[in-house]
Amino acid sequence: MTIACLVLGMAGSGKTTLVQRLASHLSSKDECTYLVNLDPAVTQVPYEPNVDIRDTLNYKDVQVEFQLGPNGAILTALNLFATRIDQLVELLESREEQVDTFVVDTPGQVEVFTWSSSGSIIAESIASSFPTVLLYVVDTPRATKPLTFVSNMIYACSIMYRMQLPLVVVWNKKDLVSTEFAQRWLSDFDTFDEAMQQLEGDYSSNLARSMALAMEEFYRVVSCCSISAVTGEGMDELWSGIQTAANEFATFR
Ligand code: GDP
Ligand code: MG
Repeated sequence: MTIACLVLGMAGSGKTTLVQRLASHLSSKDECTYLVNLDPAVTQVPYEPNVDIRDTLNYKDVQVEFQLGPNGAILTALNLFATRIDQLVELLESREEQVDTFVVDTPGQVEVFTWSSSGSIIAESIASSFPTVLLYVVDTPRATKPLTFVSNMIYACSIMYRMQLPLVVVWNKKDLVSTEFAQRWLSDFDTFDEAMQQLEGDYSSNLARSMALAMEEFYRVVSCCSISAVTGEGMDELWSGIQTAANEFATFR
């Protein structure tokens, strides 16, 4: 069964680094990956993309032609790409026999992909042909405060329900910071609440506390892995998480 992984996450969370790591990890297991870059604005990618949005769309030209700022140009480039998504899906289908996993890298800013109709169209088109898993990459060093933690989780939650695809939260950069706090906060509200106590009196702490309570159902169902895309730590665990999620794909449809 050929599966597709869509790699999403905030700018700088490590999506592109993870795509490269996943490809090298899987190739060491004799698994064949096929890599798609959908970030029109990236200057260098550390992997060899099989399909690259930059081959057909020059985002600087889009910016000039439509008189847009950088974010508008990225979004417009993605919209233009989405109008030809059937061609990408046909191409992927023609590679299905040789390929084990398609890995799709997305634009730096997560909202370009997740809150635009082109992002949904692209995700939906790929998911209509292959079991598809969303990898939501978190910049863990930037999520160690209760409020940034819960904001990230709300974002992941809204993406999962919006796209209706299985999602794995990938706590990245564990070489820089221990990810244990995340596992603790997800599984035990009291430990999160204790961390909140330290912000006592702060309006945002009340907000974060009620949001965390509302998120309990999501915390219960979502799967998580801790990795370092740079060192490769945790990749076996991530790969089995992806396979489990792919097997649950049908229940999301
Ligand atoms: P993207 O914008 O989500 O595609 O993020 P990139 O993959 O371009 O990574 C952004 C920055 O984070 C780069 O400087 C990476 O080298 C760094 N980075 C990514 N993953 C890790 C990691 O696991 N550990 C460390 N220390 N740095 C990382
Ligand atoms: Mg990137």
